[in-house]
Amino acid sequence: MTEAIATPHLTLNDGTSIPQLGLGVFLVEPDEAERIVTDALEIGYRHIDTARIYKNEEGVGRAIAASAVPREEIFVTTKLWNSDQGRDTARAALEKSLERLGLDHVDLYLIHWPSPKHGKHVESWEALIELRDAGLATSIGVSNFMQTHLDDLAAATDVVPAVNQVELHPAFQQRDLRAFHAERGILTEAWGPLGQGKYELAELPGLTEIAARHEKTVQQVAIRWHLQEGIIVFPKTTRSERMIENATVFDFELSDDEMATIAACDRELRVGAHPLNTDF
Ligand code: NDP
Repeated sequence: MTEAIATPHLTLNDGTSIPQLGLGVFLVEPDEAERIVTDALEIGYRHIDTARIYKNEEGVGRAIAASAVPREEIFVTTKLWNSDQGRDTARAALEKSLERLGLDHVDLYLIHWPSPKHGKHVESWEALIELRDAGLATSIGVSNFMQTHLDDLAAATDVVPAVNQVELHPAFQQRDLRAFHAERGILTEAWGPLGQGKYELAELPGLTEIAARHEKTVQQVAIRWHLQEGIIVFPKTTRSERMIENATVFDFELSDDEMATIAACDRELRVGAHPLNTDF
């Protein structure tokens, strides 16, 4: 077993600690997940972000079970899918996720989308509070929530989500939402931190120069930018050499000028679905 990667840990608003850098497994094939998460744990990743809808919780769980890394050293997140939202359905959904993962609790359970089509984000949040209190999830949070959805939760309960996991990358920086999170004590998690490969990071002004200056790739610069912005980040890759590359981001620091150059790359360029979509 190798050492854990040297990521900082951040403290959630419920007092628990989360490794700031992890591995995401969206679009990881079910029969590849065990191999990929095994590689990640060997490389030193200790934070895995999955979801019921990714259909790979079993593989993630098998890798964790077979690993020499103790369970308590691995931070596991999964998510409540939209069609499972509801006061009475959330518990069964989490229990099934836990069964697939082979775990008795997850470290973080998220409502995956506000899902206006179902209109159940508030009652789902109330259900998640009960699941946390029952010990099935140590921490609870949300994903793809806009300010209005966070306000809905605040009006109904006094439990503030530990995190909001949203699309965020150098061309889509979510500064207003992040300021709102900071006021409320919610940590920001980035999904799609590399823009999901849907645009060339190298084409953003200044990124290639910054990367060359530090002898890093533009992907490493993007990951480092998230870390210095205080964002939790879990780039996805299926390739072990890229897992190593994406984790080799603690041996350099972006200067204030370089952070300002990246701040100026914001294009409000959303590459994924909008939180108010009604397709799913
Ligand atoms: P990312 O921004 O992490 O991009 C992943 C893509 O970048 C893949 O095509 C990968 O290819 C490639 N890549 C990874 N590392 C490198 C590298 N060093 N150099 C070049 N290319 C690289 O997108 P994701 O959508 O996967 O976001 C990360 C995680 O966020 C997800 O895996 C998931 O856990 C979460 N997520 C959550 C959502 C939500 O609604 N809550 C929505 C979407 C994602 P390859 O695999 O071939 O290396």
